[in-house]
Amino acid sequence: MKRIYESTQNGGVVSAGGKRIEATFVVNGTFDKYTIRVWPLTYQTKQQSGQINTERHPDGRTFALFHVHPEGTGPKPSTPGNNYDGNKLGDTGNADMHRYDCYVVSSRGLWMYSWRRKQSVQLRANMDWTLPCSRKPLLPPVWVAA
Ligand SMILES: [Zn+2]
Repeated sequence: MKRIYESTQNGGVVSAGGKRIEATFVVNGTFDKYTIRVWPLTYQTKQQSGQINTERHPDGRTFALFHVHPEGTGPKPSTPGNNYDGNKLGDTGNADMHRYDCYVVSSRGLWMYSWRRKQSVQLRANMDWTLPCSRKPLLPPVWVAA
């Protein structure tokens, strides 16, 4: 997760004239047996597309999606009413449609939207939990409206 965050930060600065991009990976299978698939960078601004697996895929279905929100966008998963494209879904709408939990990494921490609860929770504050020796516990779970 730290690596993907760094790759987007570097990519966002170095490539495409400082254009802001999102990097994404999905987790397929189950909590006990999963594979991580990194989506290829598309250099779209603040949106990205890649494959979401169904149950029929050999790797199993996609149950979690992680992506980065660049500086200047909100730290929480975006919603149907509030997302960069002004589309009907946003992060939470896509999560509901495909039944995965959506994790958002930004400089302000790690948020998750649960498609089962229809709520979001901040799991980590800021980025110091990504440091090698960090043993910071998760934040207490305070669920909020998506
Ligand atoms: Zn997002």
